[in-house]
Amino acid sequence: MLIGALEAGGTKMVCSIGNEQGNVLQRASFPTTTPEATVPLLCDFLGKFGIAALGIGSFGPLVLDPTSKDYGAIANTPKLRWRGYPLLAEMQARLRVPAKIDTDVNAAALAEHRLGAGRGLGSLLYVTVGTGIGGGIVSGGRLVHGLVHPELGHMLLFPVEEDPMPDGVCPFHRHCLEGLASGPAIEKRWGLSAKLLSEDHPAWALEAEYLAQMCVNAIVSFSPEIIVLGGGVMQREQLFPLIRARTLELLSGYVASDKLTDAGVGGYIVPPALGVNSGVVGALLLGAQALREAAD
Ligand code: ADP
Ligand code: ZN
Repeated sequence: MLIGALEAGGTKMVCSIGNEQGNVLQRASFPTTTPEATVPLLCDFLGKFGIAALGIGSFGPLVLDPTSKDYGAIANTPKLRWRGYPLLAEMQARLRVPAKIDTDVNAAALAEHRLGAGRGLGSLLYVTVGTGIGGGIVSGGRLVHGLVHPELGHMLLFPVEEDPMPDGVCPFHRHCLEGLASGPAIEKRWGLSAKLLSEDHPAWALEAEYLAQMCVNAIVSFSPEIIVLGGGVMQREQLFPLIRARTLELLSGYVASDKLTDAGVGGYIVPPALGVNSGVVGALLLGAQALREAAD
């Protein structure tokens, strides 16, 4: 049975066709303009394959309370044309298949948990460090939802003294994770795209400091069995050893686990096993879930 998947991003929408096991067979990408122009294109593409269900991993924030009349709508996004847009309802009305939506990072977390770095574990944290920072949590084998969904990108951190931009760039908060450590934050602080900074630039030690603070806060808050760090900025592999070492230093041996030792941490703070495919595989898995739930 074929499943359709949508990775809805602020600059592009990636549609994929795959199966319930998360294998991708076809893919097409469309620029994100207005909902009225973009969504019919997505549905035309997805509609051609006779899909049995649809999974969506979307930029947020999203309304994910299944009892809300706005379930599956995009909430208070700065992308004004999309604010309040009923993405799930609109796509379901056009495609007439069971569908499920979650945040892009929750989809990626689900995929890494089922098929990637967290296979066989009960819990996992997935964080993407790119244009924004977002995190998805699996706990007790399930994605965490609560009041809304986790917003780890806006976790408040301690700016360090040598940071030339200690307030960060988030329009909502001073010194939150996204404001201090996203790609645009790095670019604003150093006046050069994160992609172009040299390997020995002081930007990377500072970046590792903030990501280590996030890891420590996550470890003491909900004790994930593995932390997966993905997204464009994490292409800089030299960040991993810096983050691991600083996380151990900040924890000061307080949390007792073999994984939080010099020997264990290399397998604890890791890149995504599914590489850049975590999001799409996760969206396929959401579609497969929608199919199972419809059959129940
Ligand atoms: P998005 O978050 O927009 O979906 P990405 O995860 O690719 O996409 O993140 C884009 C951000 O990551 C940009 O700010 C870019 O500067 C940064 N980035 C991309 N590749 C690298 C790299 N190799 N090194 C450092 N930063 C990078
Ligand atoms: Zn913020």
